[in-house]
Amino acid sequence: MAEKITPRDRDYNQWYQDVVRAAKLAETSPVRGSMVLPPNGYELWENMQRGLDGMFKATGHRNAYFPLFIPKSFLAREAAHVEGFAKECAVVTHYRLKEQDGDLIVDPEAELEEPLIVRPTSETIIWDTYARWIQSWRDLPLKLNQWANVVRWEMRTRLFLRTAEFLWQEGHTAHATEAEAVEETTTMLDVYARFAEEWMAMPVIKGVKTASERFPGAVDTYCIEALMQDGKALQAGTSHFLGQNFAKAFECTFQNQDNEQEYVWATSWGVSTRLIGALIMTHGDDQGVILPPKLAPIQVAIVPITRTNDDNEAVLDAAEEMRDSLTRAGYRVVLDDRDQYRPGWKFAQYEVEGVPVRLAVGPRDVKNGTAEMARRDTGEKKSVSAREIVPAIREALHDIQKALYDRAYAFRRDHTQVADSYDAFKAQVEEGGFVLMHWDGTAETEAKVKDETKATIRCVPFPGQFPGIDTAAAGTDPVSGQPSEQLVVYARAY
Ligand code: AMP
Repeated sequence: MAEKITPRDRDYNQWYQDVVRAAKLAETSPVRGSMVLPPNGYELWENMQRGLDGMFKATGHRNAYFPLFIPKSFLAREAAHVEGFAKECAVVTHYRLKEQDGDLIVDPEAELEEPLIVRPTSETIIWDTYARWIQSWRDLPLKLNQWANVVRWEMRTRLFLRTAEFLWQEGHTAHATEAEAVEETTTMLDVYARFAEEWMAMPVIKGVKTASERFPGAVDTYCIEALMQDGKALQAGTSHFLGQNFAKAFECTFQNQDNEQEYVWATSWGVSTRLIGALIMTHGDDQGVILPPKLAPIQVAIVPITRTNDDNEAVLDAAEEMRDSLTRAGYRVVLDDRDQYRPGWKFAQYEVEGVPVRLAVGPRDVKNGTAEMARRDTGEKKSVSAREIVPAIREALHDIQKALYDRAYAFRRDHTQVADSYDAFKAQVEEGGFVLMHWDGTAETEAKVKDETKATIRCVPFPGQFPGIDTAAAGTDPVSGQPSEQLVVYARAY
């Protein structure tokens, strides 16, 4: 039998842990905060990579790779950056172990002259390199991306959402002008929003972070924010305008077209395996995860209904034919003909794992030239013609992708409120969801609200993020009574 999953309304956190395990997406490891990703989890990440990588290349970026280890002194070069990251760095100080009295100890004679940091992010090593690569305006823009793992020694960890080691991509671009760098920052935010909506079927809002939530070393941090089923927000991606901070720290200048030396303008942007957590908490149900067809490692699972001791040849032939025509049409299909598991067990397992469509083929189907098609998102079952299997699957996958987005969008719309008083706000925060309220722009008010309600400002939204709500209209901050330029998005968050 499939493993037991705690219902979402009983304990959402437990549900999350249960489905991650039962769907074989990730496991904890002996090192706290480090995950093992079995194929179900890793292939999902590979599909995300493929989608994003195509979008990065279509916007003029190339991939490169920079080292895992960064000299400690590099981190110290940019003041805000070191302050932000020093408190969660893994540091390598030795390069050898030795045996002593039957024990393995760190060899005190093998101490590094300069300790090395395991990259928490790569601005420093990359800007050290860019300083050598960039001399003239002709070398710009430089638009690179790296796929890598990074380490941030997080104290409170949760699979995918916040781990000590995570997989991600980090884009790092260099520009001749401020305007061009700012444009790059918003272009990549748009790429993230499009990826979230079109691939993950997850609606997001775009906005800018307040100073307290800004990336260490950035001038501005833009973000996409999503709303999870339990009413908590999740920051799903960030794009930073770094100004000339890193260029100054690493002496990266270029000769402009008037033969003057100028500092280079920078951006960086990243999304991580956190997106898998976002996917789970956007679409999952009490039976398990539900994967959007565009990202699902297996889009269609075919289960032949065979019986021990029966002649199953005709059923297996029909199932193989279906697998072959769907594979030829470009779909990711498995034919699960393992006899050590019964069909009912397989149905349950594909349901837990979130495979969008399951096909069952039994003796009666063979006679009728049909298969039974079941949709994971609605549970709906119908008989489809074996000859028309490719168009039937195409339509089903397309419909599921759209239905998942529509459902998530409706959920977010129904869990977004505008607060006109601080008392109303407190009650709304308790209910969960996004709460829009005026903000006077001060860190004091932001901190007071966080202290009193645990809700944080997720972002100052771009105009037009909430249909029917004019977030850009001025008003009064109900917390301080001071004037406010616009509504901001508050929520309790992961
Ligand atoms: P940052 O470099 O802090 O802007 O983060 C870049 C991306 O990585 C963001 O999309 C974050 O959501 C994600 N991220 C940051 N810290 C973690 C973590 N500990 N585990 C997983 N993802 C993370």
